[in-house]
Amino acid sequence: RKWEVEKKVKTTCAYCGVGCQIDLLVKDNEVVGVEPNYSSTNKDLLCVKGKFAYGFINHKDRLKKPLIKKNGVFEEASWEEAYSLITEKMKGIKNKYGSKSFAGLSSARVTNEENYLFQKMVRAYMGNNNVDHCARLCHASTVAGLATTLGSGAMTNSNLELLDSDVIFITGSNTTETHPVLGAFVKQAKNRGAKIIVADPRRIPLAYKADVYLPLKPGTNVALFNGIMNVIIEEDLQDSEYIARATENYEDLKEVVKTYTPEYAGSICGVDPDEIRKAARIYAEGAKSSILYSMGVTQHTTGTQGVMSLSNLALLTGNIGKESSGVNPLRGQNNVQGACDMGALPGDYPGYQKVYDEDIKRKFESGWGKELSSQAGLTLTEIINDCGKGEIRFLYIMGENPMLSDPDLTHVEESLINTEFLVVQDIFMTETAQHADVVLPAATFAEKDGTFTNSERRVQRVRKAIEPIGESKPDWEILTEIMRRLGMNERYENPRAIFDELAGLTPQYKGMNYDRIEEEGLQWPCIDENHPGTRYLHKDAPVRGKGLFKPADYMSSYENSDKEYPYILTTGRILYHYHTRTMTGKIEGLNNLYPNSFVEINPTTASRLKINDGELIRVISRRGEVKTTAFVTDDIQEDVVFIPFHFTDGAANRLTHTELDPVAKIPEFKVSAVRLEKI
Ligand code: SF4
Repeated sequence: RKWEVEKKVKTTCAYCGVGCQIDLLVKDNEVVGVEPNYSSTNKDLLCVKGKFAYGFINHKDRLKKPLIKKNGVFEEASWEEAYSLITEKMKGIKNKYGSKSFAGLSSARVTNEENYLFQKMVRAYMGNNNVDHCARLCHASTVAGLATTLGSGAMTNSNLELLDSDVIFITGSNTTETHPVLGAFVKQAKNRGAKIIVADPRRIPLAYKADVYLPLKPGTNVALFNGIMNVIIEEDLQDSEYIARATENYEDLKEVVKTYTPEYAGSICGVDPDEIRKAARIYAEGAKSSILYSMGVTQHTTGTQGVMSLSNLALLTGNIGKESSGVNPLRGQNNVQGACDMGALPGDYPGYQKVYDEDIKRKFESGWGKELSSQAGLTLTEIINDCGKGEIRFLYIMGENPMLSDPDLTHVEESLINTEFLVVQDIFMTETAQHADVVLPAATFAEKDGTFTNSERRVQRVRKAIEPIGESKPDWEILTEIMRRLGMNERYENPRAIFDELAGLTPQYKGMNYDRIEEEGLQWPCIDENHPGTRYLHKDAPVRGKGLFKPADYMSSYENSDKEYPYILTTGRILYHYHTRTMTGKIEGLNNLYPNSFVEINPTTASRLKINDGELIRVISRRGEVKTTAFVTDDIQEDVVFIPFHFTDGAANRLTHTELDPVAKIPEFKVSAVRLEKI
């Protein structure tokens, strides 16, 4: 229907953290197509989700009116009724049980302006810091790890710089499926002559293009990275000038990694020692070596140590602070970077300013005109636990679906049922919203203005293309009204006004405004109105002054296979679906391609258990069991199975456990012990 289009509206893709620039094609208040809009983020590339999966916007199942649960059944209500009920409950629970009985989960899928307002509402009205979002489940260990070693927990370099890398080391990231445009850039770099190293328990598509493929066992990242560093130091391939000039604690690193000979590291990881040597030499000898990683590194009880080990590797070879190199965490959702930047975190105000810092607290108290708490709040995983214990009585969830995305869903379900009052704000009825007392219909990205910040720290515009569907409203409008009814003085006319306020309180965004980000966006830090933004971090020196080597010994995962549960389950994503399928589950073409959950099983394992490809089987862990379809493939190791976490039927997170990384409080989604049974 392109020929019928009334207008094209430039905006930012609503899916992954690459942040591709797109044109929405609009006809009769309906989005009828998407085209790429050439930019420094994605050139003119889009993936199947960004290009074709726009049908959720005008989908008939969109929430169109507020819903209030009465006697266990949802009934349509007016906004007035919903607002009144929510604010009465908030005031009542605060008066009766105090501030600590309230928590909020913000969202990596709503705009910066909306994340800013949400954490402000929690902090300024409820008087605690119990605000978090799904970064806790994906990159909390990145924020903790890179902030410790480098002084900034974000992607060091930029999307397009990948094209000029000499070496790209991809670990724990199925890049072509989860960040497809970056996957295409990796392939373009390879075609130009770059060397590719892949470390992953699954033979992912990029492994077929790799110069070296390291099929490590799930949970052994730290041992592998130590083994690579051992070779680099033994063969004198390190960048001694950079180490002397820009780092500290090198002697400790040497001491720890000296025992991780390729043979020793290989015996832990299940990788050929000669392949470790080969990978180490290729990485160290590249003039510009870049690391791409994602949740295969972060979602472990040793996730923070894995991230810091990658940082050690980059510092060791001088691959920090220069173009086309660095340590590059790929963010899963479109605005997970922005939600972190905006302080949807229990210990940080916007701009990673610490809640316990008295000067910072005074700055926000003066900006917001409210008394604030200097005590760090609860993390997402702790909030769910405290709902279960009855300590959190009011939970406000905006644009998240923990009933599919969080570990041990039986535990999550019990906790949500036990919560006295649950508000869910979303665009569709989700598995989580089913448990709510009030459901508020939110507008999609196509129906509002604002900004998203992509993985490469680029703040880009989101532009309204159509009017909100039904009676749905943009999240910022809903939050503004709730805050007003709670007696706060917030009167925002539009997202631009919110952005101006947040930029004034967030040092990295200080030099930005809507006029400056209009064309190409700006990458933070952008510290004043003349600052051009920052393409790559740590240019003259790491942000913290000197890069800190933080070596770690390998520690085993929380749960290992045994006689009763002999296989390791690892979870992840596929190209054709996004997160909990709230959006892609409404797209017929994608559902036709991948309608159901599946479990990848190695042919040897399948033959041992007499399981046929396409057969429905049972996967069982200590937390529960699911029925799902066997997909027999030698792209997975013999003792490992893989289930994507997108699906309600065969939900992978019925099987995962809640053990956390002690620093980042991220769950270990990547290693759970399971057994397989024929039905
Ligand atoms: Fe959207 Fe990510 Fe695909 Fe780009 S790569 S079109 S941002 S889903």
